Amino acid sequence: MKNHIAQIKEELGSKLSEVKASEGLKILESSFKKSLKELFAEMKALGAEDKREAGQLINDLKNEFEARFEVIRQKLAQGADVETELDLSIASPAFVRGKIHPLIRVGKMMEDVYKEMGFSIAYGPEIELDKFNYEMLNMPYYHPARDMQDTFYLEYPNILLRSHTSCVQVRYMLEHKPPFMIISPGVVYRVDEIDPQHTPCFYQVEGLVVGDGINLANLKWAMTESVKRIFGESLKVRFSPCYYPYTEPSAAVDMSCIMCGGKGCRTCKGTGWMRVAGAGMVHPNVFEGVGYSRETAGFAFGWGLNRLPMLYFKIAEMRKLFENELTLWEQL
Ligand SMILES: [Zn+2]
Repeated sequence: MKNHIAQIKEELGSKLSEVKASEGLKILESSFKKSLKELFAEMKALGAEDKREAGQLINDLKNEFEARFEVIRQKLAQGADVETELDLSIASPAFVRGKIHPLIRVGKMMEDVYKEMGFSIAYGPEIELDKFNYEMLNMPYYHPARDMQDTFYLEYPNILLRSHTSCVQVRYMLEHKPPFMIISPGVVYRVDEIDPQHTPCFYQVEGLVVGDGINLANLKWAMTESVKRIFGESLKVRFSPCYYPYTEPSAAVDMSCIMCGGKGCRTCKGTGWMRVAGAGMVHPNVFEGVGYSRETAGFAFGWGLNRLPMLYFKIAEMRKLFENELTLWEQL
């Protein structure tokens, strides 16, 4: 009996301290009346001595809470805030300081390096038109190179998730005249199967430099210099012939594998090199499409940004970047 009374007292007391409106108060009052009825029913089963003691306790409980109900009812009627019990001595929960995600950290490093080198930053939408993502980049609808960059469509065939940030370059060229140096960082999407080096959503930093006399040597220097500023002078970068529809000539760009120092490991598939970028001299058709002369000179490049944090933080598999494994992040 005593326990039951104490329990009602505690539960009702804590609920009462949270009451903010008269509806809540009514509910509590009716449940209190129900509890009293139960207590009186329980009391009947007791012996004479205990009955007297229990009756006294129930009366005290009834008086106490009726008085408290009345105080709250008056406060609510006056529109005043109901006093809540605030205990300033309670310790706050343990606070874990967060960190910036490795992808964003390396992305910011790249942005800083290119800004130091004189580039501006351009952004564009992730939901893109076919025209900007493929058509104006020398990939008409029948072009087989579209298969290399298959993406997700929101409305086939015109509205899609961008498969590269080159569409930002097209948008930029339509609004600006050369000379300029820009980078366009951001998320891109492709229908790629997940493996240690591929995920269907990844980050890119693309660059575009257009101006008189811009040549392949400038391209090679700009790309090599930017990653050496992040990974150190000992890093090796190699360029090999490649095909992209929007550049001619085009190059695939590899960096010596940081994980194994170039000896060969699982991450670099035993080659000692990691494919980290594509690049080339902008195709005359692209310049013509944005209203420039076909003789315009410029180079473009695109870093697959997910590969760089893998190498910078020595993370063996790209998908780890998306798995939110706190034990891994805490070590970085
Ligand atoms: Zn390796």
